[in-house]
Amino acid sequence: MKTIIEPFRIKSVEPIKMNSIEDRKKILDKSYYNLFQVRSNDVIIDLLTDSGTGAMSSDQWAGIMRGDESYAGSNSYLFFKDTVQDIFGYKYILPTHQGRAAERILFSTLCKKGDIVPSNTHFDTTRANILFQGAEPIDLIDDEYKNTQSIFPFKGNMSIKKLKELLDNTEIAKVPLIMLTITNNSGGGQPVSLQNIMDVSKLAKEYNVPLYIDACRFAENAYFIKKREAEYKDWSIKEIVNKIFSYADGCTMSAKKDAIVNIGGFLCTNNEVVAEKNKNLLILTEGFPTYGGLAGRDLEAIGIGLNEAMDIDYLNYRIKSIEYLGNKLLEQNVPILQPTGGHAIYIDASLFLSHIPKEQFPGQVLACELYLQGGIRCSEIGSLMFGGIDEDGKEFFSNNELVRLAMPRRTYTQSHVDYVIEIIIEVYKNRKNLSGLKITKQSKYLRHFTAQLEKV
Ligand SMILES: *Cc1c(COP(=O)(O)O)cnc(C)c1O
Repeated sequence: MKTIIEPFRIKSVEPIKMNSIEDRKKILDKSYYNLFQVRSNDVIIDLLTDSGTGAMSSDQWAGIMRGDESYAGSNSYLFFKDTVQDIFGYKYILPTHQGRAAERILFSTLCKKGDIVPSNTHFDTTRANILFQGAEPIDLIDDEYKNTQSIFPFKGNMSIKKLKELLDNTEIAKVPLIMLTITNNSGGGQPVSLQNIMDVSKLAKEYNVPLYIDACRFAENAYFIKKREAEYKDWSIKEIVNKIFSYADGCTMSAKKDAIVNIGGFLCTNNEVVAEKNKNLLILTEGFPTYGGLAGRDLEAIGIGLNEAMDIDYLNYRIKSIEYLGNKLLEQNVPILQPTGGHAIYIDASLFLSHIPKEQFPGQVLACELYLQGGIRCSEIGSLMFGGIDEDGKEFFSNNELVRLAMPRRTYTQSHVDYVIEIIIEVYKNRKNLSGLKITKQSKYLRHFTAQLEKV
């Protein structure tokens, strides 16, 4: 059996409104070349994010109806808590409305001004939340993994050498925690090996620094461990997941990813003191600890989705469909980040548009062109997202200029993917005609969401 099919039937459909290139030209102008400002109705294939955009299963929808909305001690909370505990194994579990709420609470509890928080690569909300505490987020990836064209099975791994150097040369009281993002979203959806998780954990224990995992794509990461790390080929996804989290002191989770729901998150820890402080902050801004800013029905759907995301047939289909898209682009020499990762294809815009300098946001130029030509919306992961203006008014840039085509879970079919391939190849053929963008308005944090741009 060579053809891998979508392991589901479709029960409910959502129409896609078709529009023309002339329509899209006007829309792009009106949105100041910022795709976050475009209405979803004006998008044909939406690959902006895989966050909260997945299709829930009939089981999850049944769970939505079953949701127990009692203020305290609801059944849905108990089901959620038992499921999270069963999968991740932590003592204290707090539901939050999103991943970033879990981050804000964790970093408010653990970080102080002047601290340093190492990671393989911090995600944008993680980075922003650490900066907001006055602490410094640091990314520790091996230099050879930073080349988008180099092929290694676990390019998400944290550099053990760099981590050791950092821990040896920093006052340990200033390192309140180590974060490990699985899979490494900003680093191309690349997985982290179990060996690397064990090595990071060993160092963390040696230096007495807690290790937390950014768990958003835990199931996809576990799938890569099963496929690429020989010792685990006969392990179930759940067994691998249990093992991964046994090496950390806690985790933050956006349920909008590998719990396949539209909203939600949670924060786990084994540390009673941290848990108590977290809980008090949660009550202040999120809600009572048995719902944490979510409805009972959300908790029910998260509990069901966490298990569905670990289903091997689902993961086979998911990872293979990303690989399919990637391979078709590679056949036409489109420069993408290799090897293909878990939830998205990342086009290397600095190679794709090598004539546009990073000061003119080649990633954003490409993202806008894919929208113009095909109504495809994707996101820039480059200097618009990670660059900015420093304290001295000097402009700084991201290491990579990427465009991310993130695949919502269980949402699009293969013919949608074939359409995306056709548009990208067409844009690639005409790439020399494209020119740069400049920012006319921006904010200090997470500027990519609201920045306004125009053609240079
Ligand atoms: C999405 C994401 C977050 C933040 O989660 P939200 O639910 O969007 O707040 C944090 N880390 C990673 C790796 C993510 O992908």
